[in-house]
Amino acid sequence: HAKSQGRNTWAFYAQELTEAASERLELEAHLRRAMERGEFAVHYQPQWDTATGQVTGAEALARWHHPEQGVISPGRFIPVAEESGLIIPLGERILRDACTFWEDYTRRTGHRLTLAVNLSGRQVALPDLAERILAILDETGLDPRLLELEFTESVLLEQHHGLLRLMQTLKARGVQFAIDDFGTGYSSLAYLKDLAVDRLKIDRTFVQDLPDDENDAEITAAVIAMAHNLRLTVTAEGVETEGQLAFLGRQGCDQWQGFLGSRPLPTAELETLLSAERHSGAGTSP
Ligand code: C2E
Ligand code: MG
Ligand code: MG
Ligand code: MG
Repeated sequence: HAKSQGRNTWAFYAQELTEAASERLELEAHLRRAMERGEFAVHYQPQWDTATGQVTGAEALARWHHPEQGVISPGRFIPVAEESGLIIPLGERILRDACTFWEDYTRRTGHRLTLAVNLSGRQVALPDLAERILAILDETGLDPRLLELEFTESVLLEQHHGLLRLMQTLKARGVQFAIDDFGTGYSSLAYLKDLAVDRLKIDRTFVQDLPDDENDAEITAAVIAMAHNLRLTVTAEGVETEGQLAFLGRQGCDQWQGFLGSRPLPTAELETLLSAERHSGAGTSP
């Protein structure tokens, strides 16, 4: 009895795996077609200076407008794009689109804000990524000092040499670097020191239960203090409440982003927000 049950469980499991695999393949095929059809857009989530309440920049986040399924979230398609290698042309397209828009916005308004763009490990593993990024900067005319590239701790561990090479070339041109989702990986402090990153972004899982969760409050305060000792600036991700923001302000967190300020926005809405923020002097700060 146990044996046949085991076999049934296995058959069931194998079927689930096959379904998952074919779903993935299907998504991959759709991704390829979507790239050809130009179904990807870039949305931008503003970032605020905690002390002054002014907008300092925005993060570019990929959006897939599927003709039948509507907007598909990056959490679903970025992992598939990474596994299939499609993240390389997709990431390049997102970077080019974002730099093009940012250069145009900066030139029209004279408003110099930082543009943050996410990099995947597959991109960092490319031996000529620095040259590809410099070519996009030259082509679009964006001031490299306005660009900040984000990578996660797992990229830091898996692509340490690629990152060193990338940062050496791009930092000489003024590009900045941030560690995304900080605190969720296993990166060591030694890496932080020899990589000369500019910013840590505290993952939103530490932010969501602030200020009541004592462990999260301690961790957040410690990360901010440590980062400042290493001369890094700190951005808190996923700020949704005034209570979270007030706590982060008291701890000296430099910048924040989150639904309390704004969701990621298409360019027209971003421009409306930016112009309103500029004319009101300061933004959503307490
Ligand atoms: P991330 O880089 O950590 O981006 C922040 C994510 O948190 C975004 O999700 C954003 O919409 C979400 N978020 C912002 N504020 C809040 C908040 O207050 N509450 C909550 N619950 N969520 C908030 P999104 O846009 O779905 O992107 C998810 C992840 O997909 C990103 O995490 C990033 O790792 C990846 N991703 C997005 N666009 C790109 C891209 O162009 N290239 C690469 N390589 N990865 C990307
Ligand atoms: Mg990010
Ligand atoms: Mg993040
Ligand atoms: Mg993330």
